Amino acid sequence: MRYISTRGAAPVLTFEQAMMTGLARDGGLYIPETVPQFTADEIAAFAGLSYAEVALRVLTPFVGDSFQQDELRSLITAAYAGFNHDARAPLVQLAPNHFLLELFHGPTLAFKDFAMQVIGQLMQAALARSGKRITIVGATSGDTGSAAIEAFRGLANVDVFILFPDGRVSDVQRRQMTTPSEANVRAIALAGDFDDCQARLKDMFNDFAFRDAVSLAGVNSINWARVLSQVVYYFTAAVSLGGPMRPVSFTVPTGNFGDIFAGYIARQMGLPIEKLVIATNQNDILHRTLQSGAHTKQGVNPSISPSMDIQVSSNFERLLFDAYGRDPKVVAEQMRALAEEGGFTVGQGALEFLRDGFASGRASEEETLAEIAQTLAETGELICPHTAVAVKVARDYLGTVPMITLATAHPAKFPDAVERATGVRPALPAHMADLFDRPERQTKLPNDLSALEAFITEQLNP
Ligand SMILES: *Cc1c(COP(=O)(O)O)cnc(C)c1O
Repeated sequence: MRYISTRGAAPVLTFEQAMMTGLARDGGLYIPETVPQFTADEIAAFAGLSYAEVALRVLTPFVGDSFQQDELRSLITAAYAGFNHDARAPLVQLAPNHFLLELFHGPTLAFKDFAMQVIGQLMQAALARSGKRITIVGATSGDTGSAAIEAFRGLANVDVFILFPDGRVSDVQRRQMTTPSEANVRAIALAGDFDDCQARLKDMFNDFAFRDAVSLAGVNSINWARVLSQVVYYFTAAVSLGGPMRPVSFTVPTGNFGDIFAGYIARQMGLPIEKLVIATNQNDILHRTLQSGAHTKQGVNPSISPSMDIQVSSNFERLLFDAYGRDPKVVAEQMRALAEEGGFTVGQGALEFLRDGFASGRASEEETLAEIAQTLAETGELICPHTAVAVKVARDYLGTVPMITLATAHPAKFPDAVERATGVRPALPAHMADLFDRPERQTKLPNDLSALEAFITEQLNP
């Protein structure tokens, strides 16, 4: 299996190389040259298998020669061993034909654990083989950072630096990043929003001297291995509800477009998915794009679903690549316009491609709070604000096809919003009960590339 860049001017890589590289050297994102297909019989045979076994079958054709089967099996099994639910990604029913896919039973209580735990295992194995050392720098709107720190804390050949927007993550999210005491992980509170964090991270990748000096690696959802790991639960959920014989739909609370892009890949692999619904909060660039064709940044408005407070939705580039018939020149030009002019208009053919494959909707802050209350009243389930955005949007698409809405975080990660909506303050699970008693450790830095690079260099060479 070979991986190519969406901008067409970076080396073609193997799975392992694409995973260790993160962002392509031409600024693009790696994508498989061809997407492997399953037959209906192969998908039907997933029924009754463990989550790890389905993961092994889904990952194998993408991994190619990078990992042997036995090694891959044990790495995947180890990745999911720390989850608190035997099903890993259980389904809960909300209403006739409406289901919630609970993706928050991992160690940091958000769906990011599904991919980060796998990538942690795979990177560790690859580094042990090569004897190399890497520096992981990640940008987070809240949940990626804690998931990455959890996956890499204490590892011998990895240093981790996480940039988060100062003051714009929940207290639980911040403490999950600032309380681990291992010396190889550092949390950086950046004076800016998530788009600034992501932009500085991309600047570091584009500073080849720095990139090579520190052996920079990325674990943001631009990393193909992360998207791939998320493909698995689309299969397990659909098969639980009668797939592939019965099609299902998904509604996904969307920010950086990694999670829903994984659903698009599952569909390309042969899983019958009727609708893929993009649910956005008030930061609704993707919804506006589908409505009007205009992909225009408007500045980030902080919301009660902070992990979706994004205007530059990185993985959307992967979808555009397909929408334009895999023409890297058009993608590179549109990405240049997004960076330099604040936006671009999706061409007519490409827009039809997007509308064929996806529906979309948006939930305001008031609607999100009302949905948390309504879901509790109707079902007894307490949901997080991100999940509530999606449940609200999904209501417009309920019908004869089962709708599966992704529950991306545990409500206890966002206790203030949940309490505001319902009067109920969700408690942290036992393993995190002392989170607010642990000492915090963070470094505040300006939104400035050279300050960041200087800090990282100094930390690596004390
Ligand atoms: C990251 C995150 C999202 C958005 O996922 P993307 O892959 O960035 O679209 C939604 N909800 C929660 C809780 C998250 O942590």
